[in-house]
Amino acid sequence: MRILVVEDELKMASLLRRGLVEEGHAVDLARTGDDAVWMAQAAEYDAIVLDLMLPGLDGVEVCRRVRESGVWAPVLMLTARDAVEDRVAGLDAGADDYLPKPFSFAELLARLRALVRRGATERPAVLEVGDLRLDPATRDAWRGETKIQLSAKEFALLETFMRRPGQVLSRYQLLEHAWDYGYENRSNVVDVYVRYLRDKIDRPFGRDSLETVRGAGYRLRRDGGS
Ligand code: CA
Repeated sequence: MRILVVEDELKMASLLRRGLVEEGHAVDLARTGDDAVWMAQAAEYDAIVLDLMLPGLDGVEVCRRVRESGVWAPVLMLTARDAVEDRVAGLDAGADDYLPKPFSFAELLARLRALVRRGATERPAVLEVGDLRLDPATRDAWRGETKIQLSAKEFALLETFMRRPGQVLSRYQLLEHAWDYGYENRSNVVDVYVRYLRDKIDRPFGRDSLETVRGAGYRLRRDGGS
């Protein structure tokens, strides 16, 4: 594997590099967040080990910019042991996993292997379909520049659609993803909520993004109805 290690502390950086090279990996080192952002785009890394505490651009901002640039290499963040908020911010910025310092090198390697198994497929933190946008971390939704207020259930249903744009989803599939087993009255609840969604994401904007596919279910158009 070719791995980008982003760490400003010399001792830690060389420790990481030596350990990874001993395992047979190719390792490049970035000492600042700015270097990390361009290096991540300049080569096809299999994984990025990103220290959160960096001078200048911190790890969270680096992660956000790397993802914005369309780089989906798995990112493992190194964080301080008690920095829960940092971990949350890092994961929401597009990191895939984190490891608190100090860590065992065996665990770092195992986590990297697990991340690389999942591959570098596109997995944006903010979902976009046409001009519909949905941020699962902040629970915000927008049509273009207009923010849309959604109930928790409407949000869950729209998220289900936006993770599968262009796919026909049966009522059963929609129930499976957006409702739990505790929900009793399952007969027409999907139709009701699709109607609520249309009233919020389509009708006020003169759009028609949620299509009824007769006898099959519903589909969110790939273009978001624009
Ligand atoms: Ca550091």
